[in-house]
Amino acid sequence: MGEKVYCIEAADNENDEHLCARLKELIQGEELLDCIADQDVTAVKTHFGESPKLGYARPLYLKMLGEGIKNQGGVPFLTETSTLYKGNRSGAIRHIAHAHSQGFDYAATGMPIIMADGLFGDEECVVPIPGKIYTSVHIAALFAKCNALVMVSHFTGHLAAGFGATLKNLGMGCASRKGKLAQHSTAKPKIVKKKCTACGTCITWCPESAITIKEEAAVINARKCIGCGECLAMCRFDAVKFNWGATYEDLQKKVVEHAMGVCSMFTGKSLFINVLTRISKDCDCMGHTFEQIIPDIGILISRDPVALDAASLDMVEGRSGKPLSQMAYDIPYRFQLDYAKELNFGNQDYQLVTALS
Ligand code: SF4
Ligand code: SF4
Repeated sequence: MGEKVYCIEAADNENDEHLCARLKELIQGEELLDCIADQDVTAVKTHFGESPKLGYARPLYLKMLGEGIKNQGGVPFLTETSTLYKGNRSGAIRHIAHAHSQGFDYAATGMPIIMADGLFGDEECVVPIPGKIYTSVHIAALFAKCNALVMVSHFTGHLAAGFGATLKNLGMGCASRKGKLAQHSTAKPKIVKKKCTACGTCITWCPESAITIKEEAAVINARKCIGCGECLAMCRFDAVKFNWGATYEDLQKKVVEHAMGVCSMFTGKSLFINVLTRISKDCDCMGHTFEQIIPDIGILISRDPVALDAASLDMVEGRSGKPLSQMAYDIPYRFQLDYAKELNFGNQDYQLVTALS
Protein backbone atom coordinates (compact mmCIF):
# COMPACT_ATOMS: atom_id res chain seq x y z
CA MET A 1 0.00 0.00 0.00
CA GLY A 2 1.46 3.38 -1.01
CA GLU A 3 1.59 6.50 1.10
CA LYS A 4 -1.59 8.55 1.07
CA VAL A 5 -1.45 11.71 -1.00
CA TYR A 6 -4.59 13.82 -0.69
CA CYS A 7 -5.60 15.93 -3.65
CA ILE A 8 -7.91 18.90 -4.06
CA GLU A 9 -8.51 19.43 -7.74
CA ALA A 10 -8.81 23.04 -8.82
CA ALA A 11 -10.59 24.61 -11.75
CA ASP A 12 -8.23 26.71 -13.84
CA ASN A 13 -7.88 30.11 -12.15
CA GLU A 14 -10.00 29.03 -9.19
CA ASN A 15 -9.73 31.79 -6.64
CA ASP A 16 -7.41 31.29 -3.70
CA GLU A 17 -10.11 31.97 -1.08
CA HIS A 18 -12.21 29.09 -2.39
CA LEU A 19 -9.25 26.74 -2.73
CA CYS A 20 -8.00 27.63 0.74
CA ALA A 21 -11.43 26.94 2.27
CA ARG A 22 -11.45 23.50 0.61
CA LEU A 23 -7.94 22.82 1.85
CA LYS A 24 -8.97 23.72 5.38
CA GLU A 25 -11.95 21.35 5.15
CA LEU A 26 -9.69 18.52 3.97
CA ILE A 27 -7.11 19.11 6.69
CA GLN A 28 -9.78 19.16 9.37
CA GLY A 29 -11.71 16.19 7.97
CA GLU A 30 -8.62 13.99 7.69
CA GLU A 31 -7.06 15.35 10.89
CA LEU A 32 -3.85 16.03 9.00
CA LEU A 33 -2.52 18.38 11.65
CA ASP A 34 -2.92 15.85 14.42
CA CYS A 35 0.85 15.33 14.36
CA ILE A 36 1.09 18.67 16.20
CA ALA A 37 0.82 18.32 19.97
CA ASP A 38 0.19 20.90 22.68
CA GLN A 39 3.00 23.49 22.86
CA ASP A 40 4.82 22.08 19.83
CA VAL A 41 6.98 24.83 18.39
CA THR A 42 6.11 24.45 14.72
CA ALA A 43 8.17 25.79 11.84
CA VAL A 44 5.97 26.67 8.87
CA LYS A 45 8.40 26.76 5.96
CA THR A 46 7.47 28.31 2.66
CA HIS A 47 8.94 30.53 -0.08
CA PHE A 48 7.85 34.15 -0.17
CA GLY A 49 8.32 34.48 -3.93
CA GLU A 50 10.62 36.88 -5.71
CA SER A 51 7.94 39.10 -7.20
CA PRO A 52 4.17 39.46 -6.71
CA LYS A 53 3.37 38.00 -10.13
CA LEU A 54 4.78 34.54 -9.41
CA GLY A 55 2.91 31.48 -8.22
CA TYR A 56 4.13 31.07 -4.64
CA ALA A 57 1.53 30.07 -2.02
CA ARG A 58 -0.32 33.22 -1.02
CA PRO A 59 -0.42 34.43 2.62
CA LEU A 60 -4.01 33.30 3.20
CA TYR A 61 -2.92 29.63 3.01
CA LEU A 62 -0.30 30.26 5.67
CA LYS A 63 -2.83 32.07 7.83
CA MET A 64 -5.22 29.11 7.63
CA LEU A 65 -2.42 26.66 8.52
CA GLY A 66 -1.20 28.84 11.39
CA GLU A 67 -4.71 28.88 12.84
CA GLY A 68 -4.97 25.10 12.44
CA ILE A 69 -1.67 24.60 14.26
CA LYS A 70 -2.77 26.92 17.08
CA ASN A 71 -6.03 24.95 17.38
CA GLN A 72 -3.88 21.87 18.05
CA GLY A 73 -2.14 23.80 20.83
CA GLY A 74 0.98 24.32 18.73
CA VAL A 75 3.09 27.48 18.54
CA PRO A 76 3.68 28.25 14.85
CA PHE A 77 6.02 30.69 13.15
CA LEU A 78 6.88 31.32 9.52
CA THR A 79 10.41 30.58 8.49
CA GLU A 80 12.82 30.73 5.56
CA THR A 81 16.55 30.72 4.87
CA SER A 82 18.84 33.13 3.07
CA THR A 83 19.69 32.64 -0.57
CA LEU A 84 23.27 32.19 -1.72
CA TYR A 85 23.00 34.73 -4.47
CA LYS A 86 22.75 38.43 -3.78
CA GLY A 87 19.30 39.96 -3.85
CA ASN A 88 16.15 40.61 -1.86
CA ARG A 89 16.46 37.35 0.05
CA SER A 90 20.19 37.04 0.70
CA GLY A 91 20.10 37.90 4.43
CA ALA A 92 17.56 38.01 7.25
CA ILE A 93 16.93 41.76 7.29
CA ARG A 94 16.23 42.11 3.58
CA HIS A 95 14.46 38.79 3.39
CA ILE A 96 11.97 39.63 6.14
CA ALA A 97 11.36 43.09 4.66
CA HIS A 98 10.80 41.42 1.28
CA ALA A 99 8.38 38.89 2.81
CA HIS A 100 6.38 41.74 4.32
CA SER A 101 6.27 43.49 0.96
CA GLN A 102 4.95 40.25 -0.57
CA GLY A 103 2.10 40.29 1.96
CA PHE A 104 3.49 37.88 4.58
CA ASP A 105 3.28 40.25 7.54
CA TYR A 106 1.90 39.35 10.96
CA ALA A 107 -1.46 40.96 10.23
CA ALA A 108 -1.91 38.74 7.16
CA THR A 109 -0.65 35.41 8.48
CA GLY A 110 -0.91 35.65 12.28
CA MET A 111 2.64 34.33 12.53
CA PRO A 112 5.96 36.12 13.06
CA ILE A 113 8.79 35.42 10.63
CA ILE A 114 11.94 34.00 12.20
CA MET A 115 14.81 33.18 9.86
CA ALA A 116 15.98 29.61 10.37
CA ASP A 117 19.62 30.33 9.53
CA GLY A 118 20.14 33.58 11.45
CA LEU A 119 21.09 37.05 10.33
CA PHE A 120 23.54 36.03 7.61
CA GLY A 121 22.59 32.46 6.73
CA ASP A 122 25.42 30.86 8.67
CA GLU A 123 23.67 29.57 11.78
CA GLU A 124 23.51 25.84 11.27
CA CYS A 125 23.39 22.42 12.82
CA VAL A 126 25.12 19.31 11.57
CA VAL A 127 22.74 16.41 11.03
CA PRO A 128 24.13 12.88 10.61
CA ILE A 129 22.58 10.94 7.71
CA PRO A 130 23.06 7.50 6.16
CA GLY A 131 23.80 9.07 2.77
CA LYS A 132 25.96 7.84 -0.09
CA ILE A 133 27.57 11.23 -0.70
CA TYR A 134 27.51 12.69 2.81
CA THR A 135 27.55 11.24 6.30
CA SER A 136 26.22 14.52 7.66
CA VAL A 137 24.55 17.63 6.21
CA HIS A 138 24.47 21.30 7.25
CA ILE A 139 20.93 22.42 8.02
CA ALA A 140 19.66 25.81 9.26
CA ALA A 141 20.09 25.81 13.03
CA LEU A 142 16.55 26.69 14.04
CA PHE A 143 15.03 23.46 12.75
CA ALA A 144 16.89 21.48 15.41
CA LYS A 145 15.03 23.44 18.09
CA CYS A 146 11.53 22.91 16.65
CA ASN A 147 9.10 20.11 17.46
CA ALA A 148 7.20 19.98 14.18
CA LEU A 149 7.42 21.08 10.56
CA VAL A 150 4.69 22.10 8.13
CA MET A 151 5.98 22.87 4.66
CA VAL A 152 4.16 24.63 1.84
CA SER A 153 5.87 24.39 -1.55
CA HIS A 154 4.94 25.61 -5.00
CA PHE A 155 5.54 23.13 -7.83
CA THR A 156 7.54 24.70 -10.69
CA GLY A 157 9.98 23.77 -13.39
CA HIS A 158 13.62 24.29 -12.50
CA LEU A 159 16.64 24.91 -14.66
CA ALA A 160 18.91 22.54 -12.71
CA ALA A 161 16.64 20.13 -10.86
CA GLY A 162 14.06 19.77 -13.64
CA PHE A 163 11.30 20.50 -11.18
CA GLY A 164 11.17 21.98 -7.71
CA ALA A 165 8.61 21.11 -5.05
CA THR A 166 8.84 19.66 -1.53
CA LEU A 167 12.14 17.78 -1.85
CA LYS A 168 13.83 20.89 -3.18
CA ASN A 169 12.24 23.10 -0.52
CA LEU A 170 13.49 20.67 2.13
CA GLY A 171 16.95 20.00 0.75
CA MET A 172 17.95 23.40 -0.55
CA GLY A 173 15.41 25.57 1.24
CA CYS A 174 16.20 24.32 4.76
CA ALA A 175 19.98 24.07 4.34
CA SER A 176 22.34 26.62 5.84
CA ARG A 177 24.54 28.53 3.43
CA LYS A 178 27.23 25.90 3.81
CA GLY A 179 24.68 23.20 3.03
CA LYS A 180 23.49 25.12 -0.02
CA LEU A 181 27.05 25.57 -1.20
CA ALA A 182 27.70 21.86 -0.77
CA GLN A 183 24.78 21.15 -3.09
CA HIS A 184 25.50 23.80 -5.68
CA SER A 185 29.17 24.22 -5.91
CA THR A 186 32.05 22.02 -6.75
CA ALA A 187 34.55 24.87 -6.73
CA LYS A 188 36.06 27.49 -4.47
CA PRO A 189 35.14 31.19 -4.61
CA LYS A 190 36.96 33.73 -6.72
CA ILE A 191 37.28 37.48 -6.31
CA VAL A 192 36.15 39.79 -9.11
CA LYS A 193 38.99 42.25 -8.85
CA LYS A 194 37.25 45.18 -10.49
CA LYS A 195 34.36 45.00 -8.01
CA CYS A 196 36.50 44.55 -4.92
CA THR A 197 37.01 47.73 -2.86
CA ALA A 198 39.58 46.09 -0.58
CA CYS A 199 37.30 46.87 2.38
CA GLY A 200 38.58 43.80 4.23
CA THR A 201 35.22 42.61 5.54
CA CYS A 202 35.69 39.15 4.06
CA ILE A 203 39.04 38.85 5.83
CA THR A 204 37.36 39.49 9.17
CA TRP A 205 34.81 36.76 8.57
CA CYS A 206 36.87 34.11 6.81
CA PRO A 207 37.20 31.25 9.36
CA GLU A 208 40.34 29.88 7.69
CA SER A 209 42.31 33.13 7.29
CA ALA A 210 42.36 32.30 3.59
CA ILE A 211 41.98 35.88 2.36
CA THR A 212 44.55 38.64 2.11
CA ILE A 213 44.61 41.99 0.34
CA LYS A 214 47.14 42.30 -2.48
CA GLU A 215 47.37 45.14 -4.97
CA GLU A 216 44.18 46.70 -3.60
CA ALA A 217 41.98 43.65 -3.96
CA ALA A 218 41.20 40.55 -1.94
CA VAL A 219 42.97 37.33 -2.89
CA ILE A 220 41.82 33.85 -1.79
CA ASN A 221 44.29 31.13 -0.97
CA ALA A 222 42.55 28.09 -2.50
CA ARG A 223 44.59 25.68 -0.38
CA LYS A 224 43.27 27.17 2.86
CA CYS A 225 39.70 27.84 1.65
CA ILE A 226 37.06 25.35 2.84
CA GLY A 227 34.28 26.69 0.63
CA CYS A 228 32.09 27.86 3.54
CA GLY A 229 30.75 30.87 1.62
CA GLU A 230 31.17 33.32 4.52
CA CYS A 231 32.96 35.76 2.17
CA LEU A 232 30.11 35.51 -0.35
CA ALA A 233 27.57 36.42 2.30
CA MET A 234 29.54 39.25 3.87
CA CYS A 235 30.79 41.06 0.74
CA ARG A 236 28.50 44.03 0.10
CA PHE A 237 30.04 44.73 -3.32
CA ASP A 238 29.19 41.46 -5.06
CA ALA A 239 32.89 40.84 -5.55
CA VAL A 240 32.86 37.15 -4.56
CA LYS A 241 31.80 34.61 -7.16
CA PHE A 242 31.24 30.87 -6.92
CA ASN A 243 31.13 28.38 -9.73
CA TRP A 244 27.64 26.91 -9.41
CA GLY A 245 28.43 24.17 -11.85
CA ALA A 246 27.35 20.73 -10.71
CA THR A 247 25.79 18.05 -12.86
CA TYR A 248 22.01 17.63 -12.74
CA GLU A 249 22.37 14.19 -11.24
CA ASP A 250 24.86 15.36 -8.64
CA LEU A 251 22.72 18.33 -7.64
CA GLN A 252 19.52 16.31 -7.32
CA LYS A 253 21.21 13.61 -5.24
CA LYS A 254 22.68 16.20 -2.90
CA VAL A 255 19.31 17.90 -2.55
CA VAL A 256 17.76 14.56 -1.58
CA GLU A 257 20.45 13.83 1.03
CA HIS A 258 19.87 17.24 2.62
CA ALA A 259 16.09 16.69 2.50
CA MET A 260 16.60 13.36 4.27
CA GLY A 261 18.60 15.17 6.98
CA VAL A 262 15.79 17.68 7.59
CA CYS A 263 13.12 14.96 7.71
CA SER A 264 15.16 12.93 10.19
CA MET A 265 14.54 15.72 12.72
CA PHE A 266 10.75 15.52 12.34
CA THR A 267 9.82 11.84 12.24
CA GLY A 268 6.04 11.62 12.61
CA LYS A 269 5.90 15.38 13.16
CA SER A 270 5.62 16.85 9.68
CA LEU A 271 3.13 17.62 6.96
CA PHE A 272 3.91 18.62 3.37
CA ILE A 273 1.77 20.56 0.92
CA ASN A 274 2.41 21.15 -2.79
CA VAL A 275 0.53 23.91 -4.56
CA LEU A 276 0.02 23.03 -8.22
CA THR A 277 -1.43 26.26 -9.50
CA ARG A 278 0.28 28.95 -11.61
CA ILE A 279 2.91 26.36 -12.52
CA SER A 280 5.74 28.12 -14.28
CA LYS A 281 8.71 27.03 -16.32
CA ASP A 282 11.07 28.66 -13.82
CA CYS A 283 11.18 28.50 -10.05
CA ASP A 284 9.87 31.28 -7.82
CA CYS A 285 13.39 32.67 -7.37
CA MET A 286 13.37 33.85 -11.00
CA GLY A 287 11.52 37.08 -10.44
CA HIS A 288 12.00 38.35 -13.96
CA THR A 289 9.99 35.66 -15.72
CA PHE A 290 6.58 34.10 -15.36
CA GLU A 291 5.43 31.67 -18.00
CA GLN A 292 2.57 29.41 -16.91
CA ILE A 293 3.06 26.05 -18.61
CA ILE A 294 -0.10 24.15 -17.67
CA PRO A 295 -3.62 25.02 -16.44
CA ASP A 296 -4.04 24.87 -12.66
CA ILE A 297 -4.25 21.39 -11.13
CA GLY A 298 -4.88 21.85 -7.43
CA ILE A 299 -3.25 21.19 -4.08
CA LEU A 300 -1.68 17.93 -2.89
CA ILE A 301 -0.90 17.00 0.73
CA SER A 302 0.97 14.14 2.31
CA ARG A 303 2.99 13.14 5.32
CA ASP A 304 5.58 11.70 2.93
CA PRO A 305 7.59 14.24 0.90
CA VAL A 306 8.71 11.68 -1.69
CA ALA A 307 5.21 10.33 -2.32
CA LEU A 308 3.98 13.91 -2.56
CA ASP A 309 6.53 14.98 -5.17
CA ALA A 310 6.04 11.74 -7.15
CA ALA A 311 2.27 12.26 -7.22
CA SER A 312 2.66 15.95 -8.11
CA LEU A 313 4.97 15.19 -11.01
CA ASP A 314 2.68 12.44 -12.28
CA MET A 315 -0.32 14.78 -12.14
CA VAL A 316 1.50 17.52 -14.04
CA GLU A 317 2.55 15.09 -16.76
CA GLY A 318 -0.78 13.26 -16.76
CA ARG A 319 -2.80 16.45 -17.15
CA SER A 320 -0.62 17.89 -19.87
CA GLY A 321 -0.06 14.58 -21.66
CA LYS A 322 3.61 15.54 -22.03
CA PRO A 323 6.82 14.91 -20.11
CA LEU A 324 7.88 17.86 -18.02
CA SER A 325 11.02 18.19 -20.13
CA GLN A 326 8.82 19.31 -23.05
CA MET A 327 7.21 22.04 -20.94
CA ALA A 328 10.10 23.31 -18.86
CA TYR A 329 13.77 22.35 -19.19
CA ASP A 330 14.95 19.45 -21.27
CA ILE A 331 17.05 17.90 -18.53
CA PRO A 332 16.72 14.68 -16.49
CA TYR A 333 14.48 15.30 -13.46
CA ARG A 334 13.55 11.91 -11.99
CA PHE A 335 16.93 11.44 -10.30
CA GLN A 336 15.55 13.07 -7.15
CA LEU A 337 12.75 10.51 -6.79
CA ASP A 338 14.82 7.51 -7.83
CA TYR A 339 17.65 8.48 -5.52
CA ALA A 340 15.26 8.84 -2.56
CA LYS A 341 14.21 5.24 -3.23
CA GLU A 342 17.85 4.15 -3.39
CA LEU A 343 18.36 5.70 0.06
CA ASN A 344 15.15 4.19 1.47
CA PHE A 345 13.99 7.74 2.14
CA GLY A 346 10.23 8.15 1.83
CA ASN A 347 8.11 6.17 -0.58
CA GLN A 348 7.62 6.82 -4.27
CA ASP A 349 4.52 4.64 -4.28
CA TYR A 350 1.43 6.53 -3.36
CA GLN A 351 -2.28 6.20 -3.04
CA LEU A 352 -4.11 9.24 -4.39
CA VAL A 353 -7.12 10.26 -2.33
CA THR A 354 -9.12 12.89 -4.18
CA ALA A 355 -11.23 15.16 -2.00
CA LEU A 356 -14.75 15.91 -3.18
CA SER A 357 -15.24 19.49 -4.32
S1 SF4 B 1 34.40 42.04 1.35
FE1 SF4 B 1 34.22 42.12 -0.90
S2 SF4 B 1 34.89 44.20 -1.44
FE2 SF4 B 1 35.60 43.82 0.67
S3 SF4 B 1 37.69 43.01 0.43
FE3 SF4 B 1 36.32 41.25 0.50
S4 SF4 B 1 35.84 40.79 -1.64
FE4 SF4 B 1 36.70 42.85 -1.59
S1 SF4 C 1 34.70 30.40 1.26
FE1 SF4 C 1 35.06 30.53 3.50
S2 SF4 C 1 37.10 29.70 3.77
FE2 SF4 C 1 36.91 30.20 1.59
S3 SF4 C 1 37.70 32.26 1.39
FE3 SF4 C 1 35.49 32.46 1.66
S4 SF4 C 1 35.24 32.74 3.88
FE4 SF4 C 1 37.31 31.95 3.58
